[in-house]
Parts: sequence; structure tokens; C-alpha cells
Amino acid sequence: MPDCVFCAIVERRAPALIIHENANVVSFLSIRPYVYGHTLIAPKSHHADLYDVPTAQLAHLIEEARILALHYRKRVGAVGANLLHASGAAAQQSVFHFHFHLLPRFTDDGHDAWPHLPGARESREEMQAALRFG
Ligand SMILES: [Zn+2]
Repeated sequence: MPDCVFCAIVERRAPALIIHENANVVSFLSIRPYVYGHTLIAPKSHHADLYDVPTAQLAHLIEEARILALHYRKRVGAVGANLLHASGAAAQQSVFHFHFHLLPRFTDDGHDAWPHLPGARESREEMQAALRFG
């Protein structure tokens, strides 16, 4: 995708502070790090979102998240990780090249990465009836 900034990073047409890469994925520091070590994990092939990314590529991305978490634990003592993702404009996705945000976490770092949302108005039973398969 010619105008995609993450494709440009993959192809070295745009700068990035790359942490790790392999044949399938590239991981680099966010340009606006929320926390120490905030890393974006993206496939080297262009896929817009969760609706679009092939399952095999998704497996590579999750594997990369684990590789980074293990590396950050060993390298800088990050003993936890939050993995965040947005698919679609309705979910506040801003770069339409699939990616995860990995937020390394440290004991007593004081951060709260959990979403603060108002809670569903519908009952759980209503939701199950509407959402379940079959
Ligand atoms: Zn792209």
C-alpha cells in the first residue's frame, strides 16, 4: 500500500526505531510512547484490521508479542505486559495496517491500562441471545 506508513517502515521508506523483526513481522517503538517500551507489532504484509488479517499471520503476530514480552522481562525487568488492539474506525483505529500495541509493565509502575467504559445497559442473557452462534 503506497500511502501506508507501516508499509513504508517495513520497506525502509520511513524511519522507525526497530526493536526486532523476522520474515513475517516488524516491531518498533511507538512515536508517542504511552509507557516505557511501548512497542508496535505489525505484519510485514499489508492487512487493514482483524477482519482482514490471515490467521497464519495473526499467529506470527501473537508469537512476536510473546517473544518481546520474554525479551523485555529478561532485558529490563518488565514482569507484565498489556496487549492492545483496535480494528475499525469505530474502535478508534488510527493506522489502518493491522498492529498490536505492547505495553511492558513493571511492578508498582502505577499505570492503569484497562479501559474505563460505562458498562453494558443490556443484561448478559440478552447479549448472549443476540450474539451466540446458531
Ligand atoms: Zn500497510
